[in-house]
Amino acid sequence: MDYDVLILGGGIIGCAVAYELSKYSLNIALIEKDYDIADDVALINSAVVYDGLECEDTLMSKLELMGNELMEDIASKFNVTFKKRGSLIIAEDKKGEAKLINMYDRAISRGIKNIRLLDSKEVYEMEPNLNANVKRAIHSENTGIICPYDLAIAYGEIAFDNGVKFKLEEEVLDIQKMSRGFRVVTNKNKFTCNMVLNTTPVEYYGIESENKLNKDRCCSKYLLLEKDFRGNFKNIVVTLNESEDKIYTFPTVQGGTIVALKTNETISYSDSLKKISSFMGKINDEYINIFYESPFYNDTLIIDDSLIDNGYVKIEGKHYSQVTITPAIAKIVCETIVNNLNCVLKKDFVDKRREFYRFRDLSNEERESIIKQDKRYGKIVCVCQKVTEGEIVDSIRRPLGARTIEGIKRRTGAAFGTCKGAQCLNKVASILAREMDKRLTDIVKDSKNSKIVISRIKEFDEM
Ligand SMILES: Cc1cc2nc3c(=O)[nH]c(=O)nc-3n(C[C@H](O)[C@H](O)[C@H](O)COP(=O)(O)OP(=O)(O)OC[C@H]3O[C@@H](n4cnc5c(N)ncnc54)[C@H](O)[C@@H]3O)c2cc1C
Repeated sequence: MDYDVLILGGGIIGCAVAYELSKYSLNIALIEKDYDIADDVALINSAVVYDGLECEDTLMSKLELMGNELMEDIASKFNVTFKKRGSLIIAEDKKGEAKLINMYDRAISRGIKNIRLLDSKEVYEMEPNLNANVKRAIHSENTGIICPYDLAIAYGEIAFDNGVKFKLEEEVLDIQKMSRGFRVVTNKNKFTCNMVLNTTPVEYYGIESENKLNKDRCCSKYLLLEKDFRGNFKNIVVTLNESEDKIYTFPTVQGGTIVALKTNETISYSDSLKKISSFMGKINDEYINIFYESPFYNDTLIIDDSLIDNGYVKIEGKHYSQVTITPAIAKIVCETIVNNLNCVLKKDFVDKRREFYRFRDLSNEERESIIKQDKRYGKIVCVCQKVTEGEIVDSIRRPLGARTIEGIKRRTGAAFGTCKGAQCLNKVASILAREMDKRLTDIVKDSKNSKIVISRIKEFDEM
């Protein structure tokens, strides 16, 4: 067999399972169709780490709580920014209040701790910028925010350093059952293996039955507000009221706010803004960094191990708290796989991410000291986010390094500032071309057909 385990898909779940399995004496490979791992992790710069309070589905709620409890340790071990921020679920009318009390009772019966009911006075004291008509609220101390792709990349880097082979730009076309194990057919190779973990959303590989999930999705509208918007909240805030619409606001790791409007209606940008303003106060356009739409995923996530005797496990479904539950899913799936293979824990497993510097978070003394070692840390490339050339070069050269502009942005934070890369993207692209010994016209944003420079119009030495 080429491998003991093949993991299909390099999203956050694939990388997290690769990390857990890399603790064992197994020969593992991960196959990802894109240039980079974690490419599909939502491109907003924070994810909420939920605690199971809001979740209707009991199983998903348990996974959220388990993930929440594991997250603090993982983030500190991996050097990933994770901030505990409280959350407020607010009832705005009688119907909302009834839902709120049900939610509170349900949470207590599920064993969720550190939550309490507040009256409107306590809520306004906590969030003086709130424009809503608060009747009551639940406050939770458990929730937090994390940088989701940093977490996914950290999982991947440590797995890579502990021997997992990452096969990027390779698309799985089929999985075939053999008398022993499987043959996984990609656009480049055919691999044999004892076990397959499929984390891709592809529904019809040869060995699978029909798709079981209901894929009706409503869309959420998202606004990313600048950090100097005066109405930002400290807590993650969610509304409950008579209507089916819900507004969620959550602080980002960089100090801004993401506002999500979940609605079943098809509404315009200006109507979305009106609904959000009725909750947060007037929002002038200058404070809006991005407006976008994304489906709201609320499937019950299934770890389908019905074919485990044959060696096949599939993760099915998409859920809005998939980042939160990832540490829990990774541990459960790892245990399932390990129990079916003859393996032991490795003695030489290194549970540490290679060091890197974030110039913007360093003191002046620390900055001086690294600039002495490498002058490129003294050259600022992205002025908005204070990202240096040294960090960009490191993001390309480190294990599983960036190969695309998007990969550099996600690893360093470059071009995530107010100017959205207007001043630095050309420099970032030039550094990537230089480090990879490629022409600028070969550099892509993220996928194969996303070149950023189509062709030269004049032959200068530099652009
Ligand atoms: C707008 C938005 C906001 C979110 N906010 C939160 C939040 O606040 N909190 C939270 O906990 N979660 C949040 N999530 C959820 C979370 O970000 C995603 O659900 C999660 O990143 C999905 O990870 P995954 O590994 O399961 O799937 P994916 O990232 O989809 O991974 C699957 C991988 O498989 C690869 N692949 C597909 N087909 C093939 C093939 N044939 N061959 C090889 N590779 C293949 C894909 O390229 C991909 O990399 C949010 C999601 C969205 C969209």
